Amino acid sequence: MLYNVERRVAIGAVIKACRICIDFQSERESQDIITKKDNSPVTIADFGAQAVICHELKKTFSRDPIVGEEDSSELRTEKAKILRAEILRHVNAVTPDIDEEEMLELIDSGNHCGGTGGRFWTLDPIDGTKGFLRGDQYAVALALIENGEVVLGVLGCPSLPLDVHDPNSIRGCVISAVKGQGSILELLDGGNATKVRVSFTNNAKDALFCESVESEHSSHGDSERIAKMLGVEREFIRIDSQCKYAVIARGDASIYLRLPTKKDYEEKIWDHAAGSIIVKEAGGKVTDIFGKDLDFSLGRTLFNNTGILATNGTLHNSVASSINEVFSKLE
Ligand code: AMP
Ligand code: MG
Repeated sequence: MLYNVERRVAIGAVIKACRICIDFQSERESQDIITKKDNSPVTIADFGAQAVICHELKKTFSRDPIVGEEDSSELRTEKAKILRAEILRHVNAVTPDIDEEEMLELIDSGNHCGGTGGRFWTLDPIDGTKGFLRGDQYAVALALIENGEVVLGVLGCPSLPLDVHDPNSIRGCVISAVKGQGSILELLDGGNATKVRVSFTNNAKDALFCESVESEHSSHGDSERIAKMLGVEREFIRIDSQCKYAVIARGDASIYLRLPTKKDYEEKIWDHAAGSIIVKEAGGKVTDIFGKDLDFSLGRTLFNNTGILATNGTLHNSVASSINEVFSKLE
């Protein structure tokens, strides 16, 4: 099957990165958090996960470029010596044969600029770092883009309950999708792979919406207006990270709205590549909020798109019309 090797390597890499995240969370006292230039948090686990995934990809696909979220600039100072050692300790727990310099180079191998031609991987080592630090949802997200199109996506969701409505259900899954081959869920602890499908909900009134926990990342006020317009009677669920795409793909929820809070914000490709193919291959639809296809061929951001709308497909047009109405009133 097409992309079989890529899929197995990507799943293996994501699982190793998930182990780093889980181990890091179990050692809460050693949590060291850095605040990046854009004011967002980054942890030992973000850097460790990026190093390990880049290492796994390079072993099999040495020439494939990687567009990753993190870089090592903040780690190369004298001040960051202890931090570097801590990251290496976590990396070596899953990949023993890497030294410090190699680890920093691996992190920086995610410095590709993306774009139109050829193929490259895109990686968010921990999507939803704020959720990760709160002990809520986060995802390890890896995707392969070929000639501007996402052809493979893997989402590791270490804390996601199998039943989103039952926090006591088993936690931890990996969902993967290859173009034309559907979306498959495996438990993080192993077991059979099962196909996932979006919901059959065909009336927006009965649909479960999901959106970001962080109101800075998606406007909660606008989503409330849209839901009201559609006559939605159910409560929203708020989840961090691309786990939102996972719950749409699994049919737990039917609509994911990501509504801009700032005019000039450009969505990052690693925040949407894996999630979008997983929803599409599960039978759903993903566009920006104006119904435009996401354009992954423009570099590190989706600068020709505005926000995100992901649905089970059936509800897409009606939600897109309501968004249009709300946004035209705002202008
Ligand atoms: P979420 O977990 O849905 O809140 O999304 C987390 C992602 O939001 C992070 O990976 C950031 O890249 C991204 N992000 C940061 N600032 C913004 C913003 N102003 N609007 C939309 N997304 C953002
Ligand atoms: Mg992210």
